[in-house]
Amino acid sequence: MRTSTTAAFPITQEHAQLMFPALTAAQIDRVAAHGRLRHLRDGDTLVEPGAAAVPFFVLRSGRVHVLRVLDALHGGEDLVVTHGPGAFTGEANALLGRPPMTRIRVIEAGEAIELTRAQMLSLVQTDTEIGDIVMRAYIYRRSELIDKGLGDVLVLGSAHCAATLRVKEFLTRNGHPFTYIDLDRDKDVESMLEGFHVSSADVPVVICRGTKILRKPTNEEIANCLGFNAGIDRAHVRDVVVVGGGPAGLAAAVYGASEGLDVLVVESNVPGGQAGSSSRIENYLGFPMGISGQELADRALTQAQKFGAEIMVAKGAVSLDCATRPYRVVLGDGAPIPARTVILATGAEYRHPPIGNLARFQNAGVYYSATAMEAQLCGGEEVVVVGGANSAGQAAVFLSATASRVHVLIRRAALSDTMSRYLIRRIEDSEHIELHPNTEIVTLDGGGHLERVTWRDNATGETETRDVRHVFMMTGAVPNTAWVRGCLALDDKGFVKTGTSLTAADLRAWPPTRSPLVLETSLPGVFAVGDVRSGSMKRVASAVGDGSTAISLVHQALA
Ligand SMILES: Cc1cc2nc3c(=O)[nH]c(=O)nc-3n(C[C@H](O)[C@H](O)[C@H](O)COP(=O)(O)OP(=O)(O)OC[C@H]3O[C@@H](n4cnc5c(N)ncnc54)[C@H](O)[C@@H]3O)c2cc1C
Repeated sequence: MRTSTTAAFPITQEHAQLMFPALTAAQIDRVAAHGRLRHLRDGDTLVEPGAAAVPFFVLRSGRVHVLRVLDALHGGEDLVVTHGPGAFTGEANALLGRPPMTRIRVIEAGEAIELTRAQMLSLVQTDTEIGDIVMRAYIYRRSELIDKGLGDVLVLGSAHCAATLRVKEFLTRNGHPFTYIDLDRDKDVESMLEGFHVSSADVPVVICRGTKILRKPTNEEIANCLGFNAGIDRAHVRDVVVVGGGPAGLAAAVYGASEGLDVLVVESNVPGGQAGSSSRIENYLGFPMGISGQELADRALTQAQKFGAEIMVAKGAVSLDCATRPYRVVLGDGAPIPARTVILATGAEYRHPPIGNLARFQNAGVYYSATAMEAQLCGGEEVVVVGGANSAGQAAVFLSATASRVHVLIRRAALSDTMSRYLIRRIEDSEHIELHPNTEIVTLDGGGHLERVTWRDNATGETETRDVRHVFMMTGAVPNTAWVRGCLALDDKGFVKTGTSLTAADLRAWPPTRSPLVLETSLPGVFAVGDVRSGSMKRVASAVGDGSTAISLVHQALA
């Protein structure tokens, strides 16, 4: 594959061909059938950062510069690449329907084929050869941007601040490149910040697209600033609204969109769900070496978007208006989204054990996931993992590679009833992991960050206090169903009942013409999939299976 693009940063020839392939004349002719010819004049700006509805360009002749508009602290613009004939513009944001991060300016007159986003999506869905080239290039371009920190966001924060970790996690799990400056280490920036009337008390500060300064922003404010949900029409009645973007919801999105349904996913945080917080999933079919939850989520998200599913992030459903048809999914900001059918894929959330100070140390020493991001915070230190299920076992094994010692605290006498045999064996074989049976945490102490942990052996009554600064809570989950209470039949633990588990009492309002389908809830056309479903397996594979199965049932319900 040849390339006609020159990057302004060091890159190998092999990588350049993957990121910036030049299309052949025959391929450009096929693209031309989807769009229109545009004459490029020297100096024309084709794309502005942050713009809505950005076209896709394939150059027939001429050259363009792709420029990064620098942040408010530095000003100006920086050359990223120069595209020549055969090159095409864009990166992952073009697929996601999000505003672009860069400016594109013509530096040598010529001709381009211009496609709207809808035309570009139709091209990648229908022309497999060009679709593969564009998708691969976009994924490589995005990972290069992340790798080089070449985004349009600057995060200023402190490693000791829980909100900084949350913001970094939100951007990372959304796959959005950003530059991070740790104010504890870079005192010069702190004095520069004063010029923007920002003090260290405002941390974390997010400078969005070089212009907008957000102080201690919520995830929703960041999403709004970066236009993550730009262009999603809320009034449009969808065939199916999927609530929750974990493995179950993303599987429903992939199957639904690929089968021509009009799908919107509403996710309160970031796509990937619980699986997205797993360091390595080793029992998911087809990945013998395991795959990180984040990578699995990224691939699923790209796949869903390739087929045209829309994904709304940092927007949570707060209730279901089930008295009306179409149903209406009500979001936290008040605007309801109408839906002919609804798939509930809201999963479950880690239990917060009743330990004093637990909330105070969240992300400041207490974590509910164990990914590379948390692992780098506690390298060379002692850590505690609480819990006896597989997620706890994975966390312990993963952290033992960087931590000096991992204490696994379980309330039971042994792991055999709750953890897979392969993980138990790895824990037993590791000289860095120490299992503490019959044990629970009694107190957490510290200032701004966790400093000490006291635990008690319930068999002997003895307590022990250690200077541990990092505790990983892997203690089981409660279903995210508060928002559908009153609408759907739930089991005694709050999970959603479906199919044959529904009783006659649950189905009092059910129409007499048919019985509920296998994943259908006590409301016709409302389905529950994955961990939120009563009796589900609580595994990635079963969640994915549920999500994809639900789509065939949605077809039946719509019919
Ligand atoms: C650390 C860890 C390791 C794991 N390892 C494995 C493993 O190795 N193998 C395996 O098979 N399983 C593993 N699991 C379990 C697996 O991740 C879950 O079974 C799976 O993620 C369930 O998928 P789901 O889509 O049903 O729910 P979830 O993954 O929980 O996703 C639900 C999504 O819904 C969103 N949501 C919640 N409420 C709302 C709302 N009101 N509005 C909008 N969105 C909402 C959440 O933010 C979340 O993104 C692990 C879990 C964890 C936490």
